[in-house]
This record gives sequence, structure tokens and C-alpha cells, in this order.
Amino acid sequence: MRILLVEDDRLLGDGIRAGLLQAGFAVDWTQDGRAAELALAGESYEAVVLDLGLPRLSGMEVLARLRAARNPVPVLILTARDTVPDRIAGLDAGADDYLVKPFDLGELQARLRALIRRGNSQAEPLLERDTLVLDPAARSVSWEGRPVELSAREFAVLHALLLNAGRVLSKAQLEEKLYGWGEEIESNAVEVFVHHLRRKLSPELIRTVRGVGYMIPREAG
Ligand code: CA
Repeated sequence: MRILLVEDDRLLGDGIRAGLLQAGFAVDWTQDGRAAELALAGESYEAVVLDLGLPRLSGMEVLARLRAARNPVPVLILTARDTVPDRIAGLDAGADDYLVKPFDLGELQARLRALIRRGNSQAEPLLERDTLVLDPAARSVSWEGRPVELSAREFAVLHALLLNAGRVLSKAQLEEKLYGWGEEIESNAVEVFVHHLRRKLSPELIRTVRGVGYMIPREAG
């Protein structure tokens, strides 16, 4: 689950980034509006955390351009002051949610999980498939009623495949969801994670679509 964080306050940005990484998100962090615009044009994100007061291009302008380009990515705005007109303007410009600074990191993580769920047309907080249950908030997985220990990356691969059940995700698409900027990607990393998931869960759960990628079918069997 890859997030774009747009925040020019170094201390705050650093804290938010650390909190999101700890919650298992991959994070790209930009500190001005133009850099955010470039990132959004070139990468695909599960959600954007957008400060409004930014150098070079304001958060409102970034948001307006994003929506004008018909990019549907969920956006949560951070407003510095608890002023109603700010929030109304942000929501009317296409933001999906907002938080007023100072805010609780746990609440930010929970709101992002909710936005990502809605962005994937999923109402239920738990993801289930046959006897598999994945809880994004607790970051836990169980299979046939017993808990299964997964690494952070294994969890992220499984989460992405479940959110996209019935659709094939290519290796490149999965890598994009797993890694932020500057993170080393080993060439066969995705294959290794899938291999581990099959061993820990079930060999049949994740299908390989030759030459295309991986998928978890929508229906059982
Ligand atoms: Ca700011």
C-alpha cells in the first residue's frame, strides 16, 4: 500500500512518514507542490496525504489539478488551522477526508485504511477468502482459524492481491505497491514473497498467470 505524503514541515513530515512506515505502508515523501504533482503524474498511489500550505504550488492547487486530470486517488488533506472554510474548500475541491493539525498518528493510519477500502469498493474492514482472513488494522492473518505469521512484505503482497481479487497484478504493479522511493528492490523479490505465502497458507490460493502476473480468484475453487 503505497502512500504519497506531501508535507513541507520537516519535523512533522518525518514523524508522519515514520508512523506510516510502521503501519506497513510504503511512503514517498515530497516537500513542495510541484514535486507532488510530478510524483502523482508518474506513480500510482493507494492514497495521498496532502498538506495545504506548501511552497511552489499550494495543496489546493495540487488537488484541483489532480481532479482535473481525472485522477481518482483518495486524498486526505491536512489543515493547519481548524477553520471551517478551509475544510469546505478542500472537500469541495475533491478531497475525500481531512485531519486538523495536530492529529493522532493512529487516527491518520485508520482514516487511510478506510479511504483505501472505499477506493477499492470494499465496505468490510476484514478481507476474507475461503478460510483466509486478513485484518488490515491489526495487520494479522489467519488461515483455517489459526494465526499465520507473515513478514511486512508478505502481508503487503497478500493484501494487494485480496483487494484486487479476480484481477491479475503484474510483478511490476506489486513492486510499485511494496516499495517507496530509494528502496532497493531485489529482482525476484515478488516471486519469493509469493512462494512464502503459498508455503505458509495454501499452494492453491495465489494463481500464477503465465507471462502476466499473479491473482487470487474472486470465487472459491
Ligand atoms: Ca505546510
